[in-house]
Amino acid sequence: MPVEPVLERKVELARMTHLEVPLACAEAGGVVVIPIGATEQHGRHLPMSTDTITTEVTVLRAAKEAKVVAAPAIPYGNSRQNIGFAGTVSVRPGVFGEFVKDICHSLHRHGFDKFAVVNGHGGNAAPLTVALEEFHLETGATTALVKCWQLASIEPPPGAPPWEGHAGRQETELMLALTPEDVDTAEYSVSEPTVELGDMATLAPPQYSPFDAPITVMITAWESTVTGHYGDPSMATVERGQLILDTWATNLAAFLSRLKAGEVKQSLREGRMPPH
Ligand SMILES: [Zn+2]
Repeated sequence: MPVEPVLERKVELARMTHLEVPLACAEAGGVVVIPIGATEQHGRHLPMSTDTITTEVTVLRAAKEAKVVAAPAIPYGNSRQNIGFAGTVSVRPGVFGEFVKDICHSLHRHGFDKFAVVNGHGGNAAPLTVALEEFHLETGATTALVKCWQLASIEPPPGAPPWEGHAGRQETELMLALTPEDVDTAEYSVSEPTVELGDMATLAPPQYSPFDAPITVMITAWESTVTGHYGDPSMATVERGQLILDTWATNLAAFLSRLKAGEVKQSLREGRMPPH
């Protein structure tokens, strides 16, 4: 049997034995964090795994800081908006939601009762919201959904185009900071959306800013970009990428620490809500 605390040595569930998992769960205060990415096109200059890589790095850094358990990253999601581009893999939203719920149910069975699902891909947001609400209603477990890309709001550089989004400057700077050998700088170009929606509308699933317009029009990336990205990757810098990753990890760790300390109160009522 291990003698030192497990989480001092490792936070990754995938690296633990079945003897270590209950100890790690108790050390983590029942908190498990699950990163979810995608395997989908990211323009002509970034790799398919961009969302998975950036989300997994953020989760591992935050889990080490907050001393909670990190489940393996899920590398596939709902990427229908990008299926027109070669290499994109998409799981049907209902299947994807059930898959994530089964993972949560397995971990819940082993004692974890506080869940943070960290999503790195916009197309996953809607199915995850439905699936995690169901998981919470079924188990009573405290369940949070985190949009990784919104964990920091850092001012864009002067002169940046307003329609920054998928595979644009920010994702490029993240990858320059993490796996620069996978960034094809020779393929950089400025890519403007090819749709005209007016001031009050944006497209769904979310692809580029502004993300919070009152009207969303269902449009795929295939219909709204020639290259597969939105923005100007040539404005990306390694330094900004490192700053964003540092801020994401710090802000996520702060939330995980509050979750671990029991400071996130899901209800002030006695008992559970009756099932519908
Ligand atoms: Zn992405």
